[in-house]
Amino acid sequence: MIGAIIGDIAGSRFEFNNHKSKEFELIVPECNFTDDTVMTCAIAEALMTKGERETLQEAAIRTMHSIGKHYPNCGYGYYFYTWILNDLTEPYNSLGNGAGMRISPVPFAFDDRAQMLEAAKAVTEVSHNHPEGIKGALAVADVIWMARQKMSFEEIRQTVNEKYYKLYFTCDEIRPTYEHVETCMESVPQAIEAFLESTSFEDAIRTAISIGGDSDTIACMTGGMAEAYWDVPEDIRELAEKYLDARLLDIVRRFENRYQNRI
Ligand SMILES: [Mg+2]
Repeated sequence: MIGAIIGDIAGSRFEFNNHKSKEFELIVPECNFTDDTVMTCAIAEALMTKGERETLQEAAIRTMHSIGKHYPNCGYGYYFYTWILNDLTEPYNSLGNGAGMRISPVPFAFDDRAQMLEAAKAVTEVSHNHPEGIKGALAVADVIWMARQKMSFEEIRQTVNEKYYKLYFTCDEIRPTYEHVETCMESVPQAIEAFLESTSFEDAIRTAISIGGDSDTIACMTGGMAEAYWDVPEDIRELAEKYLDARLLDIVRRFENRYQNRI
């Protein structure tokens, strides 16, 4: 999850001011965490605190509502903001990027792929129950799961092409014309392609931001994948953690301690 958070923070200043190059200072003072980080933490908290009498769906609704309310101005889309603020529990057929931006903790919490995909669907369908929303979340989760197994980029690419999206472009090809869109179909394949072209964790984040679009969210999704495959440099982690408040940092620490053997 820290990879996703780093991507969100690095991409935050380019969301509405795209930077179509891999050359930039990765994290600067004007950066901040956004809804991508908050909801990633909420899903991590749901996985860790799901009660015995609670379904994972119920846990996800509980944590997204309770944690989400602490950050009313972090960049939610209108409908999601309404869903959080009013404690709505019914999904609203979203196919927005929120499905993919918050999913990265799930593939770190399950070794069994089928169980992992079931959990990914559960935490997604509580709001993003449009088939393309669910597909976007499952694609991101599955790529992270495959990256954790250190499957080759070729193998991952083949699986994505067969199960989720046809990856028919390179980042260089789309960079000149790709624009800000907030749907899974127009963002998740791009985030996956950025990961599959990466040569390091940092290069993955830079590539994701360089194509433009919904930069914090694309870098967040790519960052989750890159964390599972490459090592996250300690200096980048330490810098990003300074941007989190105590509540979110505590969730990251507990999650990594429990699922990623980090002390
Ligand atoms: Mg955001």
